[in-house]
Amino acid sequence: MPTHIPHWIDSARRSGTSGRTAPVTDPATGEVTGEVALASPEEVDAAVAAAKAAFPAWRDTSLTRRSAIMFNFRELLNARKGELAAIITAEHGKVLDDALGEVSRGQEVVEFACGVPHLLKGGFTESASTKVDVYSLRQPVGPVAVISPFNFPAMVPMWFFPIAIATGNTVVLKPSEKDPSAALWIAELWKEAGLPSGVFNVLQGDKVAVDGLLEHRDIKAVSFVGSTAIARYVYESGTRHGKRVQALGGAKNHMVVLPDADLDLAADAAVNSGFGSAGERCMAISALVAVGGIGDDLVARIAQRTHTLRTGDGRRGSDMGPLVTAEHRDRVASYVEAGEEVGAKVVVDGREVQPDGGENGFWLGPTLLDQVEPHMSVYTDEIFGPVLSVLRVDTYDDALDLINSNEYGNGTAIFTNDGGAARRFQNEVEVGMVGINVPIPVPMAYYSFGGWKNSLFGDSHAHGSEGVHFFTRGKVVTSRWLDPSHGGLQLGFPQNT
Ligand code: NAD
Repeated sequence: MPTHIPHWIDSARRSGTSGRTAPVTDPATGEVTGEVALASPEEVDAAVAAAKAAFPAWRDTSLTRRSAIMFNFRELLNARKGELAAIITAEHGKVLDDALGEVSRGQEVVEFACGVPHLLKGGFTESASTKVDVYSLRQPVGPVAVISPFNFPAMVPMWFFPIAIATGNTVVLKPSEKDPSAALWIAELWKEAGLPSGVFNVLQGDKVAVDGLLEHRDIKAVSFVGSTAIARYVYESGTRHGKRVQALGGAKNHMVVLPDADLDLAADAAVNSGFGSAGERCMAISALVAVGGIGDDLVARIAQRTHTLRTGDGRRGSDMGPLVTAEHRDRVASYVEAGEEVGAKVVVDGREVQPDGGENGFWLGPTLLDQVEPHMSVYTDEIFGPVLSVLRVDTYDDALDLINSNEYGNGTAIFTNDGGAARRFQNEVEVGMVGINVPIPVPMAYYSFGGWKNSLFGDSHAHGSEGVHFFTRGKVVTSRWLDPSHGGLQLGFPQNT
């Protein structure tokens, strides 16, 4: 019997009342394990009302107290992250090690946010004018919404809510309806850490919930992560409704391999970054660009490694798990078919995989395509599955043109031993996150995460100093304390003296 997966409002589980639910499956068995509530407009109102009511007291809670709660949360998370990883594997399908890695990367943002007293320090100028001091503050924006995708049910929300909460905001998190249980576990941990009621709420749902949050007058800012089409929609709708919005979208990440690169290192990196988490990572490498005649050699090394990968249930020590749903698996497989039809060469065929998992699991093994051309849909579209496409070009400039002509600009990597070429690449490539001999260059929490072009709508990237800015508003105070002298009347615009 599938369990009901409820909302979390005012520090308590709230069963859905809309009469609408969506099935949640275990991707390694295909079994329906849960029925997640899908919020009605009234339930959106209830979650936002809780966040709104909690805001004044939380905003006025001292930084010492807020950072103490952040530290509590960090300690609990660190001690019990195995539980969260197991929940992620059961609903997303990624292997346990990878799920643990996801939690650890999210934890880094919690650790960054523990330093909130330092992050919120303003500037102070004494005697900017005669007996006049000027100082700057950053204040929270109010109740904020975080809307997250299925592929990182813990890490992506943690890119945002630790900083939002630490800086004095209250949060309504709308997780993906495909793997909604991680958010509830996190909510219960916040309660245990001592976070007051209403500061962190979870609203389960679909488009109705998203639209309700985007249009709600009491939501002041929205952090969204998902596919580009929805990110663009969220950005346009949210800003039209007067909100601050950061909307991170899809990706097509290229890895360029120059002829002087260490080809074994490059082949390892291509396999790890192409097939880790079954390619369901926004920073996965999906297009490998072999420069100047190394294609055959590189493809052979990648194929040899790909054949060694074990696909199976993430709880059984496999290298790669299933895809998130049967529909998604079918969609990814259809891209392989379409590529084959227009001349791409299937070097390793994941459709023939023999998984170590349930016969109704959503399986597709690692797939390597060679001779892919830029006009093929397997290259132009974001596939979001374990499909690595190899394109061959003659020169570095051809590789750069290919990347800079692509609509996405999330991550990219170059493999080379030539420092000059790497330096040119970091300067010339139109992508937000660049790796040099590093295939998945996800920035540390104290830097900011975000792509360019159709990979991000809005001005602020996630976490780091940009995250602190996103969740706070600047204020500058100019003050003069009276002393026995009096300046007299002066109607002109003040000039500094
Ligand atoms: P998605 O766009 O389908 O869903 C994201 C969120 O939007 C979910 O919470 C979902 O419920 C909601 N949503 C879905 N359809 C909607 C609609 N019509 N109107 C309003 N809201 C809607 O994305 P996904 O499949 O869950 O996640 C995979 C996508 O996320 C990929 O495109 C991937 O590249 C992207 N992603 C990007 C980053 C990044 O940092 N740029 C990180 C992770 C994932």
